[in-house]
Amino acid sequence: MGIEKPAPLLMNEVLKNSQSHTWEKAIAEWEVSGQDEDFESLSVCVCGKTGLRYKYIITNTMTRTQLHPIGSECIRHFGSQNMVDTVEYLRKITELRKRNLGSITFQEIKDAGILSRKFITALYEKGLFQPNKFNRNDGKNDFQFYLNMFNSRSMSDKQRKKADVLTRELRKLV
Ligand SMILES: [Zn+2]
Repeated sequence: MGIEKPAPLLMNEVLKNSQSHTWEKAIAEWEVSGQDEDFESLSVCVCGKTGLRYKYIITNTMTRTQLHPIGSECIRHFGSQNMVDTVEYLRKITELRKRNLGSITFQEIKDAGILSRKFITALYEKGLFQPNKFNRNDGKNDFQFYLNMFNSRSMSDKQRKKADVLTRELRKLV
């Protein structure tokens, strides 16, 4: 991923709050640490861009200084796949929060485009699939099952039930 020069205002703020003095080095000090949604889209990015709906918080990993709100476009200027992935992850978590997770179904979030191989893997890493007697005490079996169901065109009733039970575990995570 190439590094494009960001808006001067963002660059100033980032450099002011980094230990490194060049943009190319400073960007490596930052990570995406949170997201918020402004339903009225009245927020203004650190770079000056108006009309932000999804506002991100970035944190300097060396000093713990935070900068916000930052729009997703500005986050792309950091040239970090990790930061782009976190933006995508948080965006999906935000979508999930709007749903009734107590009665949510696997098919519902699949059809909504929330599921992807990357997202399911991230959920696994965050501990969605806990070891229990149904997965022979290894959450990885459920993770594999969930991925298979994501890739599959059809499910048996039994598979659907299991996929729904696992999907409702999301309420513990989001
Ligand atoms: Zn911006």
